[in-house]
Amino acid sequence: MSERSAVVVGAGVGGLATAVALTGAGWRVQVLERHERLRADGAGLQLWANGVRALGALGMGGALDAITDRRSRGPAGLRAPDGKWLVRPDQAPGESVFAHRQDLHEALVAALGEGVAVRTSATVTGLRLGDAPAVRLGGETITADLVVGADGASSLARTSVDNHARLVGAGRVAWRAVVPSFRAPELSGACETRGDGLRFAYAGLGHHGVYWTAEAQGSVRPESPAGQLDLLRRWFAGWHEPVGQLIAATRPEELLQNPVEYLDPLPRAFAHAGSTAGVALVGDAAHALTTDLGQGAGLALEDAVTLGACLRGRTVPEGLRRYDELRRHRVTRLAKASRRAGAAKGGALRTALMRALPDRAQAKGSPAVTDWTPPEG
Ligand SMILES: Cc1cc2nc3c(=O)[nH]c(=O)nc-3n(C[C@H](O)[C@H](O)[C@H](O)COP(=O)(O)OP(=O)(O)OC[C@H]3O[C@@H](n4cnc5c(N)ncnc54)[C@H](O)[C@@H]3O)c2cc1C
Repeated sequence: MSERSAVVVGAGVGGLATAVALTGAGWRVQVLERHERLRADGAGLQLWANGVRALGALGMGGALDAITDRRSRGPAGLRAPDGKWLVRPDQAPGESVFAHRQDLHEALVAALGEGVAVRTSATVTGLRLGDAPAVRLGGETITADLVVGADGASSLARTSVDNHARLVGAGRVAWRAVVPSFRAPELSGACETRGDGLRFAYAGLGHHGVYWTAEAQGSVRPESPAGQLDLLRRWFAGWHEPVGQLIAATRPEELLQNPVEYLDPLPRAFAHAGSTAGVALVGDAAHALTTDLGQGAGLALEDAVTLGACLRGRTVPEGLRRYDELRRHRVTRLAKASRRAGAAKGGALRTALMRALPDRAQAKGSPAVTDWTPPEG
């Protein structure tokens, strides 16, 4: 097949990984990113076995080893706010690794092949379907054999492929921060604690320090970051250490706040196939999930690997139909599992359930969620 061309909208984990997968298969790829530079937010990321396998399939197993902290590998334990272990780390399901998002971003950029051109400050303002799919950048139009919408949860590309999906709030807010190592307390491994409608989790990120994330019911807080840290201090008062120590060691400028959002319903199609060309959606553009399974980036990496495999030796429309078929069942199942895990979160009932059935309550990392292997094609 002669060299085929793709335009990837968005340089997040999903877009960059897709560019790696496509150039590995001989495509000429242009990545368009609206920000001035390629960057991730300043938080950590947990990748489960499926995400690790997907990076391996992209030829990035060595890069992942280099950016993950050995002490945070392996399962994370689950505790109650008083510190009682609900699931000890050696009994927790699944293997996971933690990395700093910026490290993963840089590793993906380093893995981009020769055939990739990246344009920053390039905001896509429109997308055309059909046999000459195209994106608009202000007054400029770029056509390609394949357009990939990797533009995140509020995707513009998705609305062209499917106007059915809606981004909805889960009624929760998440905070994240990385505390530099010189200010962070000593850790003995990764851990998650849940109770009273709240969640707190932390893991070491090697020389970067310690990553923590917290969740509470409600909407985005209007207070300044310093005011939000005060609230977190109050809400998590009395929780086992190092929860309070980590919040106390965090500077306001290190704090990130995000609403927890997900797509409901999911798009009816993750791709649009014309007769010779088409459009695919990957990552949050296709299936933003709640944070409950910690699988958003993992699924984005799976999408990239699957799309690359499906297009190998097939025409674009055939490859896109196969991609949609392969992703639909898995993504639909995980979206439901993620919502179920979130609905049961919080309150005395949840804590009682976790004490009684800790492994069922901890869907994260279970084989049913992480059991994915790269497709042959
Ligand atoms: C609090 C929180 C914690 C999380 N923790 C985890 C975790 O531990 N593990 C995990 O696997 N997942 C986690 N996730 C989910 C994960 O962050 C996302 O699923 C993942 O980042 C999605 O990647 P993406 O590339 O699809 O989208 P994004 O990361 O949103 O990237 C989209 C890119 O497209 C660009 N863009 C958007 N519109 C345009 C446009 N019109 N033109 C050009 N460029 C555009 C954006 O600037 C951005 O760079 C978490 C999410 C949250 C909110």
